[in-house]
Amino acid sequence: MKTAKQRDSWRNSTQYRLSIRFILILACSMLVLSLSIIAITIVELYDSTKEQSDLLVETMEKAETTSQEEWLDFLETYTSGESSPYYVRTVLDSGEIIYSHRAKELFGGFSDFRQLLVFTNILWTEDFEPYFYTRVNKGEAQVAILVEMGEKLELVEGIVSLTVVLTVIIMIVGSAVIYRFARNFSKPLVQMNQEISSLGLEENQTGQLTVPDNPQEVRTVSESFNQLLEKQQQSLEREKRFVADASHELRTPLTAIRGHVNLINRRGKQHPEVIPKSIAFIDRESKRMETMVEQLLTLGRLEGERTEIDLSQVIIQTAEELQVMMPQRLVMEVEEGILVLGNQEHFHQIIRNLIENAVKYTEEDGTITLCLTKKRGYAVAEIADTGIGISDDEKQQVFERFYRADQSRSSKIAGSGIGLSIVRTLTLLYDGTIRIEDNEPKGSRFILNFPLVK
Ligand code: ADP
Repeated sequence: MKTAKQRDSWRNSTQYRLSIRFILILACSMLVLSLSIIAITIVELYDSTKEQSDLLVETMEKAETTSQEEWLDFLETYTSGESSPYYVRTVLDSGEIIYSHRAKELFGGFSDFRQLLVFTNILWTEDFEPYFYTRVNKGEAQVAILVEMGEKLELVEGIVSLTVVLTVIIMIVGSAVIYRFARNFSKPLVQMNQEISSLGLEENQTGQLTVPDNPQEVRTVSESFNQLLEKQQQSLEREKRFVADASHELRTPLTAIRGHVNLINRRGKQHPEVIPKSIAFIDRESKRMETMVEQLLTLGRLEGERTEIDLSQVIIQTAEELQVMMPQRLVMEVEEGILVLGNQEHFHQIIRNLIENAVKYTEEDGTITLCLTKKRGYAVAEIADTGIGISDDEKQQVFERFYRADQSRSSKIAGSGIGLSIVRTLTLLYDGTIRIEDNEPKGSRFILNFPLVK
């Protein structure tokens, strides 16, 4: 037994709705078709009976029928055959009544005949025998003609029965075909739904939906769903890797800190000279951890509201802020009043990370150049240095989380490897792009593009 909910969802299913609609259309078409066939038949039969009656009247008009004998003659000739459909009653001027063959009996019950509402020329006897009735005057004589319609009625009955039987057969076969068609039509959707439900059940699933060749709509939905699934899987992978990397990266400084704490505990009393060194180390490492946690948190809070911000001001302020810890020469070529859409703090972080990197990876006598201009609807910012540079192979990799170019080289320089990853994530968040080019004669240039406020 189906529950009310199941019945409800069945009634709302595409298969049910399509079936019902098509079956209704089929039923209506069959009804119209059957009624038309029956109506055309009836009209045709009525016309042909009327023609029969008119023919007799025409013949009668032409015939010489003034005396009683002539009338008898006429009726004998035209209406007396066994298969003749005519029954004629003639009331002569003299009041005498002449009947055609078998007509007297029929006209005997004439007063009990009934008339149809539509085809008023058709009369019915008490035994439901139909006749076509015509009344004409020929000279002084009044002539009543009845044309038998029994056979025609049988024909109509035959056609009605045949139409009903055919309609029932067509409805049964048609409904079955429609039901199958609707099932086939909704099958890809039902199948897709089942696959989606089973995808949810499997843990760590890497499954994909089957993409049917048709219908096109289901094909597109399956493809889009697969793309979504793939993106979700990639992001899950990334998150997993991120958590693993983050815990690994945080564990290293933590272990080192604990090592130094132990060292102070064990040897601090006898060798107090190790204490300042260890404390300096702990201070440096904990600061590094602090920066790293801060940066990791930034990546977790990427929902920034967008307001109009002055990128020129952001660059100038950040450069001023960092200038105290910058031994290199700083060159500024910043066009004023360049506006972009975004979060002030996020833009500040992008520029700060890039300047900090330039400072870190450039010798003290090097030069750092900051440029900002407008180009084809974009704000173009450049942070260039004359430092150690980045090889072509690593130009893309440096944007990955925890990636540090040429480990041996950068291990001497403190860093966590997530600064550029944050820069890129924030840049993309505000519809910007970032790329690295080589600087002349050496060093690197980070070039950023952001859509200008219109
Ligand atoms: P880190 O904390 O190591 O600087 P980043 O994500 O900021 O992390 O940078 C990733 C790597 O890219 C760095 O380890 C360094 O090797 C390279 N890098 C970044 N900026 C520069 C630069 N201005 N010049 C040369 N190498 C750079």
